[in-house]
Amino acid sequence: MPRNSLPVIVAGAGPSGLATALSLGLKGVDVVLVEREPGLTIDLRAGSFHPPTTEMLVSLGCAAMLEKGIKVPVWQIRDRVDGVIAEFDLSLVADETPYPFRLHLEQHRLTPMLLENIRARTPNVKVIFSNGLKSVEDRGTHVAVTLDDGTGLDGAFMIGCEGARSIVRNAIQSKFVGFTWPEKLLVASTTFDLGKLGFSGAGYIADPVNFAAVFHVPDEGPPGLWRIAYPIDPEAPDDEVMAEGEIRARLKLVMEYSGADIDSFDLVYKSTYKVHQRVADKWHGGRMVIAGDAAHLNNPFGGLGLNGGVHDAVNLAEKLAPVWLAGKDHVEAFTLYERQRRPVNIKSVQAMSIRNKRLLEERDPQVRKQRQAEIGAIARDPVKARAFLMETSMIDSVRKAAAITLETPVEADWSGEEAA
Ligand SMILES: Cc1cc2nc3c(=O)[nH]c(=O)nc-3n(C[C@H](O)[C@H](O)[C@H](O)COP(=O)(O)OP(=O)(O)OC[C@H]3O[C@@H](n4cnc5c(N)ncnc54)[C@H](O)[C@@H]3O)c2cc1C
Repeated sequence: MPRNSLPVIVAGAGPSGLATALSLGLKGVDVVLVEREPGLTIDLRAGSFHPPTTEMLVSLGCAAMLEKGIKVPVWQIRDRVDGVIAEFDLSLVADETPYPFRLHLEQHRLTPMLLENIRARTPNVKVIFSNGLKSVEDRGTHVAVTLDDGTGLDGAFMIGCEGARSIVRNAIQSKFVGFTWPEKLLVASTTFDLGKLGFSGAGYIADPVNFAAVFHVPDEGPPGLWRIAYPIDPEAPDDEVMAEGEIRARLKLVMEYSGADIDSFDLVYKSTYKVHQRVADKWHGGRMVIAGDAAHLNNPFGGLGLNGGVHDAVNLAEKLAPVWLAGKDHVEAFTLYERQRRPVNIKSVQAMSIRNKRLLEERDPQVRKQRQAEIGAIARDPVKARAFLMETSMIDSVRKAAAITLETPVEADWSGEEAA
């Protein structure tokens, strides 16, 4: 069968869309990537890459992330009052990956690397900014796209990587099943070096009210920034919760037992966001398919969301390239993609991120102590710690997805009621 004459259209130049377009382009597929914004977006979002994601991104040409990022081999779970309760050292899985560390690099420092690779290495990928996907229709033999400015564009297939409010997800009549947590999160960042107080570059602080995540990200270079995310009242207006005095007051509560002198913190960035746990009930329909945040959302405790989007992108490109290049059946390809990636998102990303958040925010003092004792015991036992690290570093989930075939029974389903 001849190569397809129409390109694959990808909506959204976030990390998932860029990684999808680059992966397809490197395999020889023609792609048009459309992005609504005038350029790549810059905001305080993901910043932690797990080993399999680093492997994928390095193989896509982003080895510079190893130089620009901060390598975090050890991550911590802390109690706000008692301090470190568990430390996990990724060197325990050094025989399983060339990158036995979390790599911290802001999402907006990765996306230009992906775009540079597209521009330098894939002339078959065209990137259009300031003109997003307005609507898409499956015409059976192709997809008919209308862009924001009214331009029409025909494509062989449509991939929706346009984030949480995906138009493609709606076009395939997929429901975004799940829930939104009652609280919002506020992320503040400072150049104050929390490493001096014993924080490793990645840490989670447990407390019934003032739980938090603490992450060291490189910013423009040393000393980098320490990002602290904590829960806030969703009803409180942003200007109140983001007032400097209010942030300092909350940071004092979060950090008071660590010895941090909050008054000496410079507050560099701050933002608030809602936290969701959602999985689309179907990931493809006809010639359309979704990936990344368009297909799944989760809380940031575990640093899993963006990683899962990159895993989707690489998996989907592997399935779609032989369809576009050699006329393989697209329904079978998209079915296998969904059967590999969706259950893994449910059983791994959703389950882990919900479990992590629950561990941190547990209100019952006895349950809290018991869960903390359990996690501490896992960390101290090298066999259990290794198994835990294989799961939390996403090495297991990528392997499990790869082992699923069209014949494997679909086990996991998602009612989205787990924490409702
Ligand atoms: C505060 C915060 C912290 C986070 N921390 C982590 C972390 O540590 N680790 C982790 O793995 N994940 C984290 N995440 C999640 C992570 O940021 C997302 O999972 C990731 O951005 C998803 O990438 P994406 O490309 O799928 O979607 P997005 O990044 O949302 O990109 C979608 C793109 O599509 C564009 N777009 C939207 N609509 C259209 C349209 N109609 N047409 C064309 N373009 C369109 C948007 O402008 C955007 O550029 C965090 C998220 C937040 C909010």
